[in-house]
Amino acid sequence: MSILIKNVIFNNKKKDILIESNEIKKIDNEINISADEIINAKESKAILPGFINCHTHAAMTLLRGFADDLPLNEWLFNRIFPAEEKLTNEDIYWGTKLALIEMIKSGTIFINEMYLFRGIEGVACAIEEMGIRAVLGICTDDFNFEKVKEFKIPQNTDLIEYAIAPHAIYTAGEKVLKWAKEMSDKNDMLIHMHLSETNKEVMDAIEHYGKRPVNYLNDLGLINDKCIFAHSIWLNNDELDILDEKGCSLVYNPSSNMKLASGVFRFEEIKDKRINICLGTDGSASNNNLDMIEEMKMGALLQKTNDIDPTSGKSEDMLKIATENGAKALRKKTGKIEEGYLADLILIDLEKPHFNPCYNLTSSLVYAANGDCVTDVICNGKLIMKDREIEGEKEVFEKVKEISKKFI
Ligand SMILES: [Zn+2]
Repeated sequence: MSILIKNVIFNNKKKDILIESNEIKKIDNEINISADEIINAKESKAILPGFINCHTHAAMTLLRGFADDLPLNEWLFNRIFPAEEKLTNEDIYWGTKLALIEMIKSGTIFINEMYLFRGIEGVACAIEEMGIRAVLGICTDDFNFEKVKEFKIPQNTDLIEYAIAPHAIYTAGEKVLKWAKEMSDKNDMLIHMHLSETNKEVMDAIEHYGKRPVNYLNDLGLINDKCIFAHSIWLNNDELDILDEKGCSLVYNPSSNMKLASGVFRFEEIKDKRINICLGTDGSASNNNLDMIEEMKMGALLQKTNDIDPTSGKSEDMLKIATENGAKALRKKTGKIEEGYLADLILIDLEKPHFNPCYNLTSSLVYAANGDCVTDVICNGKLIMKDREIEGEKEVFEKVKEISKKFI
């Protein structure tokens, strides 16, 4: 399979880009060869690397708007967890499909996903069918641990790599965390976990373990460069030093952090460290959408407001954490447009009001546009959205409407 993209705007210049198999084969001023698919962008579309969403709970689309404006603990324990008990594994499959449609339509090609362990087979199936990449976390806590231990981890595929996802220190005890570390070491698996999302989590850790969350995890030997920690808001300087020394990835989740009033990620202080900052939307019950373009804007504005400094949270930093830093965290040769990189690319419609005039594409993208500007999505060398059309979209909406009736 080969795709030739003609007359596309790349780094402010008109280029042709050839994709062969799942790779960016050639970028040149003009390429004249035949290809299985030719897309003529007619200089009205720009090309960008697809977005990498580093913290998601895809099927939470089913609970979008179900519980808003509540404190995190009440939201999670009194509303979300009881509602999730009503979800069947088939519901999780359809909810994941809905999320993936929304993600593809706003330019996401790679997710770092964790959701209810019992639904993991349906999640994997939805991902393969929709054609995006995922690091799929095997989500474990004290309650499901015995079942998770018996789970035979499937083979990684072209699109899916399995990871270990202990939910958080307040749901997964020492036994679970030690096992996660062992599995990660033995099978070279990434670890994806919530960390220090609220001040309460830190206070509880001090009360129960006599130490702060990062010290607790570090003493268990769990912290290394395979760790991707979501939220990571309530960290003191000693904890940052540990995460820096170990070369961890931290996920900035600005919309969720604002909506649940969790706090503010220390972006400007962390960005020059060895710590790799990436961007995530979190689940759509706490966001409530999965649009990475909007997330970049939220990320930028939150930093400026918090620091009372308009130079904080620059648009180019937001684009970097939404693309190449995500690729680094998830260990794939994607997130950049270069020959030899994976063909995970999106086309942006420059004939939208948001891009007129366009003095700086990154600025227009982050501050003015939203996910609706994405016209075409290529992932792993395959065209998975063409002119905003995705196969099977209507059926998914109908199924989700049916499922939502149980919450009315
Ligand atoms: Zn989360």
